[in-house]
Amino acid sequence: MTDKTFDAIVIGSGPGGSACAVLLAKAGIKTLLLEKNGRVGGKMLTGKKNGFEYDIWPHGQVPINDAAFEILFKELGVESEREPCLEHNSMKKVCGISYRAKEWSKYRSVAFVQGLQDALPFFQMWEMDEGDQAASVKFMADMAVMPPDQVDDLDAVSMHDYCQQNDVPFRLYSYLAFHANASLAEPIDLVSASEQIKIMQQIMIQGGGGNYKGGFGRLTDIIAREFQKLGGELLTKAKVERIKVEDGKVTGVVTKDGTFDAPIVASSAGIQPTVLKLAGEEHFEASYTKYIKELVPGWAFTGVRYFLDKDVLDLPMYVAYGDDSWWNVERFEAAADGKIPEEVILFMTVAANYDPDMAPPGKQCIVAGTICSPDPEAKEIGALCDKMDEMMQRLYPDAWAAIESVDRAGPAEISSSSRDSVLPGQGGECVGLAQIVGQCGKDKPSSQSPIPGLYYAGADAGSAGMGTHQAADSGMKVADMIIQERKRSGGA
Ligand SMILES: Cc1cc2nc3c(=O)[nH]c(=O)nc-3n(C[C@H](O)[C@H](O)[C@H](O)COP(=O)(O)OP(=O)(O)OC[C@H]3O[C@@H](n4cnc5c(N)ncnc54)[C@H](O)[C@@H]3O)c2cc1C
Repeated sequence: MTDKTFDAIVIGSGPGGSACAVLLAKAGIKTLLLEKNGRVGGKMLTGKKNGFEYDIWPHGQVPINDAAFEILFKELGVESEREPCLEHNSMKKVCGISYRAKEWSKYRSVAFVQGLQDALPFFQMWEMDEGDQAASVKFMADMAVMPPDQVDDLDAVSMHDYCQQNDVPFRLYSYLAFHANASLAEPIDLVSASEQIKIMQQIMIQGGGGNYKGGFGRLTDIIAREFQKLGGELLTKAKVERIKVEDGKVTGVVTKDGTFDAPIVASSAGIQPTVLKLAGEEHFEASYTKYIKELVPGWAFTGVRYFLDKDVLDLPMYVAYGDDSWWNVERFEAAADGKIPEEVILFMTVAANYDPDMAPPGKQCIVAGTICSPDPEAKEIGALCDKMDEMMQRLYPDAWAAIESVDRAGPAEISSSSRDSVLPGQGGECVGLAQIVGQCGKDKPSSQSPIPGLYYAGADAGSAGMGTHQAADSGMKVADMIIQERKRSGGA
């Protein structure tokens, strides 16, 4: 029988909520973790089907070295169970990149290691002349060594504007535009240069693109197990319907199975659903709810799982992009208007090439995606998935010929497994709030809400970088804020 009274309640068990909950439990704080799904993990879930195991959505870790999960697992004393498939400085080829310039009829390809990348193969693939190569090397080197205060100064500059200011050669610009889509799910003309540079620095110095034995979802399974070992209470299939606010303070939550009391609630259900639906607008100043409503959601990815009856692909990750296939704001709006582009970017992970135990012998599952709207009701998702099929057929014909079954998903499924849609066009975002000018770095929403006792853990508040890393980092920071606040107010 579950207790009804806790010191703290955490809503949601993705990387943000689970990291927060386990550190609260470790600090001796009586914590309840409530998850609406039947399993922990949120968008980081690893699924199973017909002998295959695969991350439900295509995931790659950035950074590999010193990721939030590494810090957390060390703190929990379970570091040996966090098993990266490759060391961060492994020289094994991990990512196959294919590129088509506007004027070329065919894609050209090259394969890379996870870190310490040599730019020369990129330059050869791009057919870049020596002048552009020198300019590209300088631009990338300047980014790699840019000190943190200078990076922070770029919070309010879009990556597009930063590239313009630095006369970035078009081939490199096109790559960075694709990269903004693939690593941040954002357009280059809105994404904050500080966010993208932080991620580029991590990839160049700490490595990027890795996975874990057993998939990303195994990490949240271990965190949830440790949470329970430390005395935390976990309830799955426990959707929070309301956060109780009485006399201007948080007092607990209401689920369909009952009410739970606590003076602290950390929500990873998304900042917009937390404020506008779970707590309710009436508890906030009008100016704060206006601010929350105007925050812009990040974009989504379609998620197509291709199950193959042969192991035809050699690498764990493949990406294909061209000058016409990455999206800026104009291209995004055209697709939302029903003008489906001739080509789309294709991002694919092959779990069995990270960890051979993740597919039946001789078979493979490709988890693929392309950029799309976060609107769970977006009409163009089917057409974008058809386009992905066309690209697969053209670029990876052996894989296409070996398909035994296909699952398709998109922003509607992302939303149902993570955050509710509480505003038009919002809900299916890959990461969370868009990491764009005006809402990241020093402009990122605070993890502390105006209501005493209510915090936001997860990708929307308090951190930076790529999805899973920033969500776990945010959860760890929120746990620390709560622990410090309890100490200040004389709690345990
Ligand atoms: C297609 C796709 C590709 C991605 N690729 C990458 C990648 O390559 N690298 C990377 O690092 N990240 C990637 N991400 C992003 C990453 O998965 C997210 O940023 C991260 O999972 C966010 O963590 P979170 O804890 O903030 O939220 P979530 O993972 O969304 O977890 C929120 C949890 O809260 C629960 N919840 C919500 N409302 C309630 C409620 N009312 N009551 C109870 N529980 C509730 C949800 O069920 C969920 O479990 C990708 C995501 C997608 C969808």
